[in-house]
Amino acid sequence: KEEFSRGALRTKTVEDILTPLKDCFMLPSTAVLDFGTMSEIMQSGYTRVPVYEEERSNIIEILYVKDLALVDPEDCTPMTTITKFYNHPLHFVFNDTKLDAMLEEFKKGNSHMAIVQKVNNEGEGDPFYEVLGLVTLEDVIEEIIRSEILDE
Ligand code: ADP
Repeated sequence: KEEFSRGALRTKTVEDILTPLKDCFMLPSTAVLDFGTMSEIMQSGYTRVPVYEEERSNIIEILYVKDLALVDPEDCTPMTTITKFYNHPLHFVFNDTKLDAMLEEFKKGNSHMAIVQKVNNEGEGDPFYEVLGLVTLEDVIEEIIRSEILDE
């Protein structure tokens, strides 16, 4: 049993379990933390919100919902004022990172979310980093539980 679960963690990658970029709840860096935006964040139900510049594939910062505790929607605070103040680290991992390695990273680091990217060298031009989505500790734990149940 243990063997199998460990096996899944050794062979599966973050790409197998990530939340695709198109499904990620994110906000642009130009957002203003007014009543509308803050309601949207609360209603999303997520604890962390990636913040992007210009394009959704260009994630530059991360907002934690708890950062909003002292924000008054009446002040219409710019998003970047808050993200720059808290300045939470942003972690990037490659798509082929195995789940056991990802789990170790999450255990070591203080952040339990990572942005998954791959090197895209399919086109004519220079290779570039392409963001595929995000992965959290929760996704890895879910995979561990799934493989244990499958093995019963
Ligand atoms: P939360 O604490 O916000 O519920 P978790 O780390 O528990 O986040 O992850 C729960 C699921 O939600 C995972 O599948 C994760 O990939 C996904 N997730 C986390 N944050 C976001 C987000 N901002 N947009 C879309 N999916 C997210």
